[in-house]
This record gives sequence, C-alpha cells and structure tokens, in this order.
Amino acid sequence: MSSDLASQYGFDQHECSIRDWSADLAAGLPPSDDEWEETGTFPWSVLEQLAESSGALTLTFPARHAGRDGSRMDAILLVEQLAMRSFVVAEAVHLALNGPAYFLAKFGASELASRWLPPVAAGTALISIAITEESAGTALGDISTRFDQHAGGIRVEGRKCFVTGGALAAAHLVVGRFGGEGSRGLGAVLVPAGTRGLSVERTYRKMGGNALPEAAIQFENAWVPRDHVLIPGDPMSSAGLKEILRQYGAMRLGIAAMCIGTAQGAMDRVVDHLRTREQGGQRLADHQGVRWTWARLALDLEQARLLTYRAARTVDEDGLPSAGQATMAKLAASEVAVAITQQAIQAFGWRGIARGREFPVERVARETRGWTIAGGTTESLLNSLAHDLLDD
Ligand SMILES: Cc1cc2nc3c(=O)[nH]c(=O)nc-3n(C[C@H](O)[C@H](O)[C@H](O)COP(=O)(O)OP(=O)(O)OC[C@H]3O[C@@H](n4cnc5c(N)ncnc54)[C@H](O)[C@@H]3O)c2cc1C
Repeated sequence: MSSDLASQYGFDQHECSIRDWSADLAAGLPPSDDEWEETGTFPWSVLEQLAESSGALTLTFPARHAGRDGSRMDAILLVEQLAMRSFVVAEAVHLALNGPAYFLAKFGASELASRWLPPVAAGTALISIAITEESAGTALGDISTRFDQHAGGIRVEGRKCFVTGGALAAAHLVVGRFGGEGSRGLGAVLVPAGTRGLSVERTYRKMGGNALPEAAIQFENAWVPRDHVLIPGDPMSSAGLKEILRQYGAMRLGIAAMCIGTAQGAMDRVVDHLRTREQGGQRLADHQGVRWTWARLALDLEQARLLTYRAARTVDEDGLPSAGQATMAKLAASEVAVAITQQAIQAFGWRGIARGREFPVERVARETRGWTIAGGTTESLLNSLAHDLLDD
C-alpha cells in the first residue's frame, strides 16, 4: 500500500507511515455510529481512548505545547481515514487539529494555551468555533456580537447560532466586533463555557450528525480577561477579518478531508455491492448506466482528493493553506461527498434508505448533507473563486 501511495500522490516515507497509522486507528474504532446518532450521544470515551493510545489529538500542536509538530498534510491524512469509518470521531479530531484548538496552540497567549490544550489533547474537551448569527450567515460583515474593551477585560454581548458542539464544548472561539462596521473591526476571543453571562440557549436536532449537535449560545455581560483575545480587531481596518479567514482556511481544508474520507467510505461499500449483487443473472456492475455513474464519481472524488492534498502540501509557515486552494478543495470535496452519498442510496435500493447499523449508507448521507453549507456555502465559495478570477 505504501509504495502505491508514494507513487500516486508523491508521499514521502513519513506521509506513508502517517497514512498507514491513521488507517489502523480508523480500523480500531467501534462500529457504533448508528447508536451515537440515534441517541445523540457524543463518544467521549472513544475520543479519550484514541488520545491516550495514539496521541492523535496533538498531531498538529507545536512541541512547546506538548504537540507533535505534525504538518497540515498529516492532519488531513488522519481526518480522511477516520471519516471513512466515523463521521463524529473524524469531526472531533478535525476540530482539534485544524480548528480552534490549533489556532489557540499556534497563536494564543502561552498561559491561555497551557490552560485549554491539555484537556483537548486528552480527548476530554472540545473547543467550538462560534461565528454564525441569525442575521449573519454568509455575510460576515453583518456580525453584531460585540467585544467591548475595558481595563478589567473584554465584555462580550451577542448571540451565536448553529455552533457545532456548542453545548458540549469547554470553550468557544467567538468571532465578534471590536467596534467598526462591515468588514472592519472583526476579531476573535476565547470564551470559556463556564463564563458568567454565557448560556446555551438551545440545541438543534438536524437530519444527521446528532452525536455532535449544534447549539445557540447567548452572551450577556460575559467578561473574559484581555489575554483571551486571539485575533484583535481594529475598528478602522479589515485586518482582523483577513486573519480570521486566513486561519479558517485550515478548517476548510479539514472539512475537505472529512468529505473525501466519507465519500471514499461510501464508494468502497457501493463498489463491493455492485460487484457482488446480481439481478436477472447480471451483476449490477455490468449495467452501462451504473458503470458511467460510478466512473464519473470516482473521477470527481480523485480530483477533490488531489486538490485537498495540493492545498495541504503548499501551506504557509503557520501551517495554513492558501485561501484559493482551500476554497477549491472544500468546494470540490463537499460536492462530491454529497453526490456520492446520494447516489449510494440509489445503488443499494431499499437497503439504501433503511436505517440501522446493518445498512450501509443512509446515515452517512444524512451526516454529509450539511457540508456544502458549513465552512462556506457552495455559492459563497464560488463567489470567492469568481472574484479571484474576474475582479481586479
Ligand atoms: C453542519 C453544519 C455545521 C456548522 N457549524 C458551524 C459552527 O461550528 N460554527 C458556526 O459559527 N457556524 C456553523 N455553521 C453555520 C454555517 O457557517 C452557516 O450555515 C453558513 O455560513 C451559511 O449561513 P446561513 O445558513 O445563515 O445561510 P445564508 O447566508 O442565509 O444563505 C442561504 C443560502 O443563500 C446563499 N447565499 C447567501 N449569500 C449569497 C451570495 N452573496 N451569493 C449567492 N448565494 C448566496 C447561500 O449560499 C445559501 O445557499 C454550520 C452549518 C452546518 C450546516
């Protein structure tokens, strides 16, 4: 396997071994996603065990925070492999390695990072990222959550919605406004879950992914110390928003990795089914329409994977991908993941829509659907690519 990967994707020996290690970790996960999904149970014990047995949750943290100084590519390979087996475990690992915990490890004040990273590394805590508001989804310039700076700290006022893991997280990386309007004045502050004035208002039930549900969070006169600012905002400048988007590129790429893993997992199950199931004396795989459908999807998936690996390989000195490359990867990967998981339902017939552990794709299709919305909708990513292509 390793020599194939080296020649197909130009992996060096280290990347081959990370990929193999990741595949082993994924193979060791319990087949319990259906139960977690049905009962809305987050698998803390699995995350804890993964952390303890492998150190996977520190892969991209810097050595000064007891991390392994792993590359973005290392994280992408791990998340991809985990997503082939378990959406919720992959998402939790992705949040740590490519999301708010990584930003804290890389850019946070040392004392703040030392307080919050050990429980994340141990698999006993999550840090969420809270950006979206009822009136500010795609349009980040409409964000109204306020950070008022005082000598004694920062006062946070506002309401966030649809924050992944919002009710489970030990802390939230909140994007808000240090004054200014539109794109000016935005920044990010870490707000611990136990902060007075912070309340989880509600948790949303959704079509899939209920083991790591989203929540709405209210901040009313919630105060944090000044060293909890991760990205300062200047009311006269859009530099804070640019830095938020620069860091968010790693999140986008992690979502791409989750999507290609999920899509590959579904594809593998479909291919096995098409090769083995016969109807009317013929394998399903022998029907021309089926063959072209899956050949096209395999091509689309490989393109998305190559875009994802390219973006992961060409990161800056902070381990962050270029905006354009992460955008292309996330767009391609989320679209192909939705396409493959939907077509997988068709390929399995009634077994495709039946629910439960013994049925191969129904839950995965529900879990995957949100990824053309989360992390930048398809349309907003196309807007950004069009802007790069067509505007001065
Ligand atoms: C699974 C999932 C997890 C999420 N996790 C988080 C999280 O952890 N933290 C967080 O803060 N948020 C999270 N979100 C929210 C997500 O960031 C928002 O849903 C997303 O930014 C879009 O905002 P909206 O849903 O308000 O849609 P809107 O902005 O209202 O858009 C609705 C539709 O209109 C389209 N549209 C909007 N503007 C334009 C335009 N200018 N041009 C063309 N089309 C446009 C959009 O593409 C979309 O199709 C999550 C969402 C999902 C689905």
